[in-house]
Amino acid sequence: MSRTAIVTGGTRGIGAAISKALHAEGHRVAANYAGNEEAAAAFRRETGIAVFKWDVSDFAACAAGVRQVTEELGAVDILVNNAGITCDAMLHRMTLEQWRTVIDTNLNSLFNMTRQVIEGMRERGFGRIVNISSINGQKGQIGQTNYSASKAGDLGFTKALAQENARKGITVNAVCPGYTETDMVRAVPQDVLEKSVLSQIPVGRLGQPEEIARCVLFLASEEAGFVTGSTLTVNGGQYLI
Ligand code: NDP
Repeated sequence: MSRTAIVTGGTRGIGAAISKALHAEGHRVAANYAGNEEAAAAFRRETGIAVFKWDVSDFAACAAGVRQVTEELGAVDILVNNAGITCDAMLHRMTLEQWRTVIDTNLNSLFNMTRQVIEGMRERGFGRIVNISSINGQKGQIGQTNYSASKAGDLGFTKALAQENARKGITVNAVCPGYTETDMVRAVPQDVLEKSVLSQIPVGRLGQPEEIARCVLFLASEEAGFVTGSTLTVNGGQYLI
């Protein structure tokens, strides 16, 4: 069955792979982005997937964005909260701005986005919400108190929301990727990547965005109706929970 899906941060990296996978499955996909017009335009050209710009850390912008998607593509049945950023610093050097930006983008965004679609999903008796957390929300990471806290918060949000909506045909799950080959990881210096990251991954390589997307596709499917409140760990064996 063809449904309307929103993928936040859906024009680059893991989000782009998720948008493409849902589109290939026959869904109407809205790929959201923050402001990288060049990447969004290239993605639109390459895939034919509709792109929509708004800031997921801004509640009013999310309301307007979801309204526009609903008008153009129909009521939203699948929401993938994927948009996320890092802004690393040791806590003793971290600024309030670094803390707030990451919490607003990675955690408050889940409220900002989900609040716009949850009532409609409850009324229609169907919904699939997939939240992209992180290995570093599970294990913590030096220099990432803001990021680790935001991503651990995503897991608590997932479990609570799953219970609230389990009787309404709505599933809520989280995916925790390990290090995956995107711009976010390309920003890590090569020597650090080799010494501190690759050596810690039992499969001996970074994950590919498509490998994360396949997991999201399953959780977003009609067939995954009995899977809710779960955390799917996809990290090449780096951290086993
Ligand atoms: P990228 O940096 O490659 O892409 C980020 C995407 O999010 C872009 O489309 C960007 O839009 C969008 N975005 C960023 N901020 C906002 C915002 N405020 N509002 C709307 N969109 C926004 O990230 P990845 O693909 O690497 O990461 C995707 C998710 O996976 C994130 O939540 C990340 O934390 C998580 N993750 C990633 C891992 C990795 O190794 N890559 C590991 C574990 C988790 P624009 O192009 O306009 O900037």
